[in-house]
Amino acid sequence: MADLKNKDFCITILGSGSATPALNRFHSAQIVLFKGQRLLLDSGEGTQYKLLLYDSLSPVHKILITHVHGDHILGLPGLFFTFSLNGVERPVHLYSTSQAIEWFSTFKDWLTIPLSFPVHTHVAPLDKKNLLYSDKEMDIFSIPLKHTSAAVGYIIKENLPPRKINPEALKKFNIPYNQLNSVKMGYDATSREGETIPNAQITLPNRTPRSYAFITDTLYVPELADYLKEVTVLYHEATFSEEHSEEANLTGHSTAIQAAQLAKQAQVKLLLIGHISSRYTKPEELVMEARKVFPNTFLAMEGLKVWLEIDKIWLQYPDGSEFSL
Ligand SMILES: [Zn+2]
Ligand SMILES: [Zn+2]
Repeated sequence: MADLKNKDFCITILGSGSATPALNRFHSAQIVLFKGQRLLLDSGEGTQYKLLLYDSLSPVHKILITHVHGDHILGLPGLFFTFSLNGVERPVHLYSTSQAIEWFSTFKDWLTIPLSFPVHTHVAPLDKKNLLYSDKEMDIFSIPLKHTSAAVGYIIKENLPPRKINPEALKKFNIPYNQLNSVKMGYDATSREGETIPNAQITLPNRTPRSYAFITDTLYVPELADYLKEVTVLYHEATFSEEHSEEANLTGHSTAIQAAQLAKQAQVKLLLIGHISSRYTKPEELVMEARKVFPNTFLAMEGLKVWLEIDKIWLQYPDGSEFSL
């Protein structure tokens, strides 16, 4: 079982299919719980049912939609209607492309019953990596993708100060506690005796922040590796197998091997592949293809929970099987 002390960053896959419906794979949606915040990534049709099954219908703080295609957004009306029935009052922040935000505004105008909660919309730019949101716990970035409509991916990254305090050194040099925050940011300190103490003598480098990238739908874009450098877990679409690479190219999608190439280039720790076309009845075969390039590849599947702990990653599949890295 995952370490209970470490359960502050968890991803639950709600939908792992692509546009054409399949009976066992649902449209794109995931819920991310991060240090008390609930973030919904995409909201394909039926998202609310999958939330009921694998998580809960508790209100969400933020919704990040990759693009306006139906398999990524059509779950929002049902979910918002339910939130209103439940009397949700807390504001929801909705992030997406301008097309998707426009779609949402139109939908809102047609509602016969007004929403019970305010929705604050935020447009993600399409030309560069962009910091969409930041607080003391996390940063959320959007990154432009290449698809048949405007699309963006997201990176959710733990916000950590660059340095951590060495408590013994702090005592030894008699540093007042009111300087701790600036010391963690890398500044030198002044001891109670008035002596300047170089930062390196009282701090250690902090650990690498945990991060999760959600990349769908897109062509294989090698340049994305720069944006995704050393992400802890990368979810990347793998709509097609290598056999159908031509189709992937024509429809603005990636193959499993291309997803694996990107994971390898970016030196991520673990790759989840999803958005699998309904034509594949054995999606494990796509995982096998990807593992030839990037061995730490796993299949995204409805009900899968991925825990990003401080020093390991746990995967818990709905059939009870578990893996850790
Ligand atoms: Zn799609
Ligand atoms: Zn699409």
